[in-house]
Amino acid sequence: MVTFDTLLRELRGKIPEIEPPALDAALHDARRPALIDVREPDEHAQGMIPGAVHIPRGFLEQRIERTVPDREAPVVVYCAGGTRSVFAVRSLNELGYHNVRSLVGGFTGWKRAGLPWEQPISLRPDQETRYSRHTLLPEVGVAGQVKLLAAKVLCIGAGGLGSPSSMYLAAAGIGTIGVIDDDVVDASNLQRQILHGTDRVGIAKVESAETTLRALNPDVKVDKHRTRITSDNALALIAPYDVIIDGADNFATRYLVNDAALKLGKPVIHASIFRFEGQVTVFPANGSPCYRCLYPQPPPAEEAPSCAEAGVLGVLPGIMGVLQATEAIKLVLGLGETLAGRLVVYDAMKTRFRELKLRRDPKCPTCGDGVDRRAIELIDYEQFCAGPKH
Ligand SMILES: [Zn+2]
Repeated sequence: MVTFDTLLRELRGKIPEIEPPALDAALHDARRPALIDVREPDEHAQGMIPGAVHIPRGFLEQRIERTVPDREAPVVVYCAGGTRSVFAVRSLNELGYHNVRSLVGGFTGWKRAGLPWEQPISLRPDQETRYSRHTLLPEVGVAGQVKLLAAKVLCIGAGGLGSPSSMYLAAAGIGTIGVIDDDVVDASNLQRQILHGTDRVGIAKVESAETTLRALNPDVKVDKHRTRITSDNALALIAPYDVIIDGADNFATRYLVNDAALKLGKPVIHASIFRFEGQVTVFPANGSPCYRCLYPQPPPAEEAPSCAEAGVLGVLPGIMGVLQATEAIKLVLGLGETLAGRLVVYDAMKTRFRELKLRRDPKCPTCGDGVDRRAIELIDYEQFCAGPKH
């Protein structure tokens, strides 16, 4: 009969191992190995080697292909003391992974060698429940949720577009949501501005927004900016945020937000709505193409539609604002393809989405060839739309 000790000794002789300092060097190499932590969750929670992927030993065979699809890729496995990892390597060999080594001395040996380790990121138990449908998505996971909780998104306007975008961002666990709006809730807003309710008429929109967003998710901090964005305050307002959602109802603000965001290198998710039609796009952090590539100059005042007269289908900003929130979450997580360089136009009457390609204009006054973005001067255009906000 083979005893555990004999089997371990036998395997040790066959299975390649790596010493902690050699692993440290390999992790800084261009062809760094995939590092798998096969300890139990309670051990992993105490500390881990930076960059390791945690797959408890019991799930290793089941999950390794998702983490390391290439069977030729170099892999290092570690446990607490370097015993369980030897058996893990044997299993991986059986699955066709032949470039696998076990860390000598495991995590204990790594720490004893004075090498860096970190506390793994984790969620509170109530957050694990609240965000479970996110963390179940491998593309998001706990790490992604932690990113969302650390993210700061600015919603310009707490109106038709700002309502659905900020509400979904709050529900998703975006940790800080800035809301800029100088207005108070009016009864004519309630047909589409779902942040606000009948009992809030006459209350500042930023206050109403905070009440709704915090009720949805107390994890969210709401920065209330009860002001109008101008050339004097635009940079200070935008600078603290990672992503800007432009839900403004007027050209003056859109140009100002575009120019200030370009100066600061912040991505802007732009949307606008008119009657039964909405459009949405992303002006990326690298600034190309930008709003001025689309509309180099504001239209003459008499051609700009007056919001008060135009009217809008109440549900339309809901659709466009939710698309904005989706793009914001993708930007925070670095997921998928954003709408950068693409303008999506939604026609509610025909239920049709069209996509137009946007190109950078080399002559664009703010992102064109040779333009120094840091030197962009902010302009306060005349407000075209003094009527109720859409
Ligand atoms: Zn441009």
